[in-house]
Amino acid sequence: MQLPVVTGVALTVVVAALAAVRNRFVRARLGFSGVLLLVALGLELALARGIGEAALVGGGTLPRPGEISLAHNGVLFMDELPEFERRVLEVLRQPLEEGLVRIARAARTVQFPARFQFVAAMNPCPCGFLGHPVRACQCTPPQVARYRSRLSGPLRDRLDLDVEVAAVSIEALHADGAEEPSAAIRARVLAARERQAARRRDGDAWLNAALEGSRLRRETRLDLEATRLLKRAAAALALSARSHDRVLRVARTIADLDGAESVGVQHVGESLQFRSQGTSTA
Ligand SMILES: [Zn+2]
Repeated sequence: MQLPVVTGVALTVVVAALAAVRNRFVRARLGFSGVLLLVALGLELALARGIGEAALVGGGTLPRPGEISLAHNGVLFMDELPEFERRVLEVLRQPLEEGLVRIARAARTVQFPARFQFVAAMNPCPCGFLGHPVRACQCTPPQVARYRSRLSGPLRDRLDLDVEVAAVSIEALHADGAEEPSAAIRARVLAARERQAARRRDGDAWLNAALEGSRLRRETRLDLEATRLLKRAAAALALSARSHDRVLRVARTIADLDGAESVGVQHVGESLQFRSQGTSTA
């Protein structure tokens, strides 16, 4: 079982890069150093301090929108995901699926929009050092199991990309790396979004994220080799129908980032890499 490993510094870099690439507005819960870095970078930032159910999804006697609605059309970032109550995390399932949240009150039901890009981070264990090359983990196996079980299988099933990030050494942070600058990545992302927009022009449902059913299958028609790979993987990983569709959707996006018209076996293969970690634990 593998889970994302993100150290404090690496985490902040991830959020800053995301803000630079995706858009300049990220709603996040971050530590003090993270806030300082984002402020230093001149990024707009709203801190989601409330972590109760009402603060996250909305609520109150006179229902008010929560953080997920305030992040509508933007990014919602949640640090240390297992630190949130499992009950609070479970209420994210409906908005992640439908792009809106319904709050039932005795007299009526209120509906708020909540189509946000969900990004979350967690440690590999409560102390954060499991798998670290130098420091030893202090946690017992039951503690690790309990920590990881706070994320339910169905919630993980709704995440498109599950990525393990290795700890970043201080030397690496100071090194003049040959990394691709965020501006170049942003240009590639914008080009991929334009490809998606060119395929369909129906309101705000033009992103691959909104692809479903027959349209999803039409736009991600696979050749024989890619179909064979997906079938084999679906059986080996026991993919649910939802996971299967997510693999297709992510493969379509990888092809768009690649500038490719059709989805090939390499795109399906890459898409599967982002799933297999999560599904093996579901
Ligand atoms: Zn530990």
